[in-house]
Amino acid sequence: MSCARLKDRTRMLRFVRLASGGLGLGQGFGRSAYVCRSRPCLQDARRRKRVRKSLRIPDHPAIDATLAAELDKVEPDNPELGQRSPVV
Ligand SMILES: [Zn+2]
Repeated sequence: MSCARLKDRTRMLRFVRLASGGLGLGQGFGRSAYVCRSRPCLQDARRRKRVRKSLRIPDHPAIDATLAAELDKVEPDNPELGQRSPVV
């Protein structure tokens, strides 16, 4: 994902396609998708199913649930996280 080169990865949400075919969150080896914890990126990831597409997996309820939970935590006007242009 384009986000990955803009941010410190340790602060980003990480989704992993596990070798088993399942979905991992935060850790595990496998193809990874990163979403930064900013409102535009979280919303964009949900709307455009970016995690699922990036990992090339069928839709998984945990992806949207995780993005929604993070959105609830993000400050709407956080100057550090909220002002970067969403990556298209
Ligand atoms: Zn981002």
